[in-house]
Amino acid sequence: MNESEQTLSIIKPDAVERNLQDEIKNEFNKNGFVISKEKKIHISKQEAEQFYKVHETKPFYNDLCEYLSSGPIIVMSLQKKNAVLDNRKLMGATNPKEAEKGTLREKYGISIDKNSVHGSDSIENAKIEIDFFFKD
Ligand code: UDP
Ligand code: MG
Repeated sequence: MNESEQTLSIIKPDAVERNLQDEIKNEFNKNGFVISKEKKIHISKQEAEQFYKVHETKPFYNDLCEYLSSGPIIVMSLQKKNAVLDNRKLMGATNPKEAEKGTLREKYGISIDKNSVHGSDSIENAKIEIDFFFKD
């Protein structure tokens, strides 16, 4: 009966800066997600480094962490059946130029680094990421 799943979503600084959060949250609602947890925060670079630790060997790691800590973000736990995969589908490809039409990154993303939204890539990582922001 209750097959619903949770995934972590972040509205990144480029989108918050352009005041797109209500529009993006509306997209989640329209697509059947329930925003079960939500907060607006401004994380430190150290917190961003911890969050993106899987990418620590990548050439873009430092810029990525600078960027995620550069301004306010909205972190949310999104709930629905197949939330993880469905959110990845709704977000579109990492590079907005390659994202399918109608996806969030196609509509709102500026570039591969300023791509407006984050979404967990597996059920396991979703649990870790939701805990990272909402455990207390
Ligand atoms: N990123 C970047 N340059 C790249 C690849 C990724 O700046 O060449 C950034 C981008 O913001 C991306 C994040 O690093 O969203 C995490 O990368 P990942 O491969 O996990 O992409 P995602 O899961 O966000 O689609
Ligand atoms: Mg990822």
